[in-house]
Amino acid sequence: MPDRNPAGRAAGGGGACGRDGPQSAPPRQGCGVTATVYLDANATEPLRPAARAALLAALDGVGNPSSVHTAGRAARRILEDSRDAIARRLGGEIVFTSGGTESDALAIHALGHNRRLLIGATEHDAVRAARADAEILPVDANGVLDLTALETALSGSPALVCLMAANNETGTIQPVAEAAALCRRHGARLHVDAVQAAGRMAVDLRTLGADSLAISSHKLGGPAGAGALVLAADWDGPSLIVGGGQERGRRGGTPAIPIIAGFAAAIAEPAPDLLPLRQVAEQAAIACGGIVLGGDNRLANTICVALPGVAAQTQLIALDIAGIQVSAGSACSSGKVARSHVLEAMGLGALAGEAIRVSLPWNATQADVAAFATAYAAMTARVTRRAA
Ligand code: PLP
Repeated sequence: MPDRNPAGRAAGGGGACGRDGPQSAPPRQGCGVTATVYLDANATEPLRPAARAALLAALDGVGNPSSVHTAGRAARRILEDSRDAIARRLGGEIVFTSGGTESDALAIHALGHNRRLLIGATEHDAVRAARADAEILPVDANGVLDLTALETALSGSPALVCLMAANNETGTIQPVAEAAALCRRHGARLHVDAVQAAGRMAVDLRTLGADSLAISSHKLGGPAGAGALVLAADWDGPSLIVGGGQERGRRGGTPAIPIIAGFAAAIAEPAPDLLPLRQVAEQAAIACGGIVLGGDNRLANTICVALPGVAAQTQLIALDIAGIQVSAGSACSSGKVARSHVLEAMGLGALAGEAIRVSLPWNATQADVAAFATAYAAMTARVTRRAA
């Protein structure tokens, strides 16, 4: 079985990792031990070939886009062409950032200035940690936002609402258009964290009716280190990073031209249809006693599956030894798996510590899913024997 991670991007982070940091051990192919199958796309996607080509081509350029000479103008052309390509795809004005976390933080800082902050209970830590006074809105057992609770909360003073388009742990898709209509009716703004949705389902700022979107290059097959805040209207809040006036004063700092070129190339790639593969993997897990969480309306690449009575960490290690790289709800820098705030918000009790996430990358194959099914069955058989 070929190593599905030629760029080594599944390698265990070394250093602190966030809730979605890669959690698997480094690939061991080459030591003659086990080939690996990378099924942790929601942590980071493998680099798309078109993104790699654009990144490498731009690496040879030398100019700073703020310089007026020929090399500077060439760099500015790459920057503006990339901006146009991403804007065409997502329908808004683009502010380049370093990634999803910064895009969320910038939206909350600028669009949420002098406003209350309302967030869904299953938002990513990039949103949860951005402001200590955020009011948390409940979700149902599938992790879907309670729109009645949102409407009640909106009756107070002006707010910024943050809602993810799709959840990173379960893939659950949120009712963004309905939330946007409620926000409009109550004079609230809506920021959508589309970090997991972009590149996997249709995302368009105008169709969603949101005020801003956060996206991240490495979650859609581009290189890590760039992201964007997509804006529906002009800016009226303070910037997070000021400096040389780049991004029309909205985000200071010299833009990472090669990474942005790779980002734009990745977002132009078509989304693969991963649903048939997801269904095969899901059925294999269910046949072994797994419980798939998050309802039916989910990203086509994401499975969150609990195995009652078996800690997520035990499952991760067993699958990793078998060469299958998946993750669990949350991992911390010590490498331990903590209980997932997402699954806890869904009211899942003990299952919140017993679920793993299988997230298929854009280049997943039938062989990958077959390898997962074999490893999952072997793991559950071993656990069952031990418990008997
Ligand atoms: N939002 C969501 C839903 C995510 O899943 C992540 C990362 O996992 C982020 C934001 C942060 O993105 P980045 O890793 O680009 O900072």
